[in-house]
Amino acid sequence: MALDVGHFAAEPGVISAAGRPEFEYNLDLARDVKAELEKLRMAVRMIGERGDYAVLHHRTRDAVGADLFLSVHHDSVKEELLPQADRFSGFSLFVSRLNPEAEKSLACASAIGARLRAAGFTPSRYHADPVTGAPRPFADETNGVHWYDNLAVGRTATMPSVLLEGGVIVNREEERRMRDPEVRRRIAGAVAEGVRACL
Ligand SMILES: [Zn+2]
Repeated sequence: MALDVGHFAAEPGVISAAGRPEFEYNLDLARDVKAELEKLRMAVRMIGERGDYAVLHHRTRDAVGADLFLSVHHDSVKEELLPQADRFSGFSLFVSRLNPEAEKSLACASAIGARLRAAGFTPSRYHADPVTGAPRPFADETNGVHWYDNLAVGRTATMPSVLLEGGVIVNREEERRMRDPEVRRRIAGAVAEGVRACL
């Protein structure tokens, strides 16, 4: 499978509450997910770990042949909600109905969300709330999966594709959790189990 580290050095994504760029969180978590997948004897192709992928569709192009594309990100909230960012926490998963294997994408996202919940993590949910987030309707509400049809890495992938927001790093407490290697290992273990279940 292909494991994509979201963003790149020149545009590193969200800046966390403590001022650390999202790319560094994505890299740490993706490395842990890779290690957990390898424990399950799954072959992993890393994409973007050197921070040099500026063109989104090059990521999915270079994943051709993989049985799943999983993009690792960390979340923020809309600018006007940043002063209340500590209210928002949890993971989210996104899949595109424009992916040629949308059904399988959803199955994998649901499996990952279910394992994360079983490990004690909670879906953020706010992306489906028109008041607080961009309105991304639920594809699987229980497991925190949303439809995001125009998601580039979902739409341009030729294989099933899932985007994970591991946690909300503009929330100070959640950012501390995401920096904790033990928390990260538990997230990574749950993600790897979900991937194995759906593949
Ligand atoms: Zn991101």
